[in-house]
Amino acid sequence: KDEEVFKPYEMKGRISGLRKSAVVKSLFQDKEEKNGSNNTHGKNKKGSKEEIDLEHELFKGIDPELIQHIKNEILDRVPKVNWNDIAGLKFAKKCLTEIVVWPMLRPDIFTGLRAPPKGLLLFGPPGNGKTLLCKALAKESGCTFFSISASSLMSKWIGEGEKLVRTLFAVARYYQPSIVFLDEVDSLLTQRGETDFEASRRVKTEFLLQFDGVGSSNEDRILVVGATNTPEELDMAARRRFVKRIYVPLPTNSARNFLFKHLLDKQVNKKTKLTEREISKLCDLTVGYSGADIHSICQEAAFSPIREISDILSIDVNTVRNINYKDFEKALEKVKPSVSKNDLAKCREFNKRYGTYP
Ligand code: ADP
Repeated sequence: KDEEVFKPYEMKGRISGLRKSAVVKSLFQDKEEKNGSNNTHGKNKKGSKEEIDLEHELFKGIDPELIQHIKNEILDRVPKVNWNDIAGLKFAKKCLTEIVVWPMLRPDIFTGLRAPPKGLLLFGPPGNGKTLLCKALAKESGCTFFSISASSLMSKWIGEGEKLVRTLFAVARYYQPSIVFLDEVDSLLTQRGETDFEASRRVKTEFLLQFDGVGSSNEDRILVVGATNTPEELDMAARRRFVKRIYVPLPTNSARNFLFKHLLDKQVNKKTKLTEREISKLCDLTVGYSGADIHSICQEAAFSPIREISDILSIDVNTVRNINYKDFEKALEKVKPSVSKNDLAKCREFNKRYGTYP
């Protein structure tokens, strides 16, 4: 019997029936330890027949190796982002609180007409907080966070993509309430012609199937969040499923102000002080810059004092000079806005036509 257990092919996941269930169970021990007697749906006692049946049903035909991969690479149990770490986007935060956080925390109140959406799209130019918003959303609503890039699903997982999608949703069900974040969703749900590869068509079909499965069950507390910089490329099937579509724009002047201060405050030696006037000048000079561009400017400026040091290995950290306004001026010469006017116009146009709150 023992020999059977350690056959190498079994390590590749080709395990069947009860043994597979045992492997799956051991993969999820952490959840059981963490939650004590809690379980997947909070209604069956741990170890009860109902729960064992549920687990059997959930992981039927699923490869334990893929489950492990999801746990290692895709599951981010406690994202460390709060609303307060995100500059601006007050409107998006308010909408997300109303349509996701409250319903996740009080499912008893948010039923029927108030039931939360199963699909949500965050769209806007790259580097402005879509991913951050989604992480904070998971944190604020107490959801398990799964994050995967749709383009990697299509390329890296050729041939395995559809299995990965199926496993992802099964694991998300197990850990619910969950948020499944699909970055670059356009590469999965784009309107493409007959040139579609068979493999990518299959991944897309499986994804839509799983998405609809989530939508048809009132029991499931799983939210699928798609993010895209090119919303105009999404097809009808995608727009229909992402019932709420929220625009994440470039940071406003006051959001840039917050971001400069926030990033400088986080600098380890804490000695960096720019005056209000200097910060305000920087904000005026960075119209059209994305949040990620502002981050790059601060990084570039923070390196200026370091470049002046002749012996980095022996210098006392307390003698490194402060970052000053001149460093920012130099950084601005190097870091240019990354979002083109054309791309911005496309996002705004999409917001007017399909945005939930244009
Ligand atoms: P997106 O998903 O929209 O492409 P991200 O959320 O991944 O962008 O943001 C990329 C990086 O840019 C973040 O890690 C952060 O450093 C910075 N950033 C962008 N927008 C914001 C914001 N609104 N508040 C704070 N940081 C931001």
